[in-house]
Amino acid sequence: MAFTLSKATRTLLVITSVLLVGDLIVVGLVGTGAIDPARFTVGDAERPVVVSSTTFLDDLILRVAGDKVNRVLLVGPGGDPHTYQPTTRDQVAIERAALVVLNGWGLEPGIEEMVESVGKPAHRVLHAAQGMEPHYEDDARTVPDPHMWLSIPRAKVYVANIRDALERVDPANAALYRANANATERELDVLDAHIRRILATIPADNRSLITTHDAFRYFGNEYGIRVVDTLWGVSTEVDYSPQDRAQLVQYLRQNRVPAVFVESSVARVEEFVGAACEAEARVGGTLFSDSLGLPGSGGHTYFTMMLKNAEILVTGLTGGGEDACTWKP
Ligand SMILES: [Zn+2]
Repeated sequence: MAFTLSKATRTLLVITSVLLVGDLIVVGLVGTGAIDPARFTVGDAERPVVVSSTTFLDDLILRVAGDKVNRVLLVGPGGDPHTYQPTTRDQVAIERAALVVLNGWGLEPGIEEMVESVGKPAHRVLHAAQGMEPHYEDDARTVPDPHMWLSIPRAKVYVANIRDALERVDPANAALYRANANATERELDVLDAHIRRILATIPADNRSLITTHDAFRYFGNEYGIRVVDTLWGVSTEVDYSPQDRAQLVQYLRQNRVPAVFVESSVARVEEFVGAACEAEARVGGTLFSDSLGLPGSGGHTYFTMMLKNAEILVTGLTGGGEDACTWKP
């Protein structure tokens, strides 16, 4: 039986406690027995199933595809794609999907491994950051930085890649996907200009960013914010050492850094905030990096996430924020 979301089905899914945001199904958060992923079908007569690893990809897919596909999201709002371990439900969704959209460049190693293990054909997998040369974490050029979406000009490449992949798996709607992608790219240009105006209000001496993990290099390069230090590197998979923490405290003290920033998708921030407290720095705010927020968070779409981050940075880097010693998530 084909999987489609009729109005009656949606109602049923809601009352069986599936987290459903619009037409979106978050597989990783689905309660036991709430939905049978075996019912997903490839190339559903009405709408193909498009699985994505994380929230910002899902939102860009929504922009380009509208209601022409059934979207399935694996890592829900606030989740960490670096450390996410896919479930058997995720596996079934991946097996049955017409298209699986990943970021790539090492952002979601657990999901990537599962896609490989099920032998998903290459033409049904999109690495949305493809075609862009990554920065590397170190001079050995071994660890690529996957966080390209935080630069809006690079996000436009994601949109173009998503458009092309959707056209491939669903050529009947190609004209619509093209029109939606064009409109999204134009809106991204407007957003980009707006964010540059907002960030321009931060004085030159304050344009330094310290966060929990190294997600903002592309953002910093694009918008003239110096990313100086983090506790983790480009992935939260490998834990930081006591030396990393000590170096952070020392850096904050020596450079009289006014504020550090936490991230909504990075848990275990106590040590980081503790280091800021020790160095008498403030917490500038909570940024969205590897995940969008829930509706009501101010960052539940790609557009609002980027806008909210810019506003938080202005507040945090111009004397706002909270005392790190009393800060609570
Ligand atoms: Zn990350």
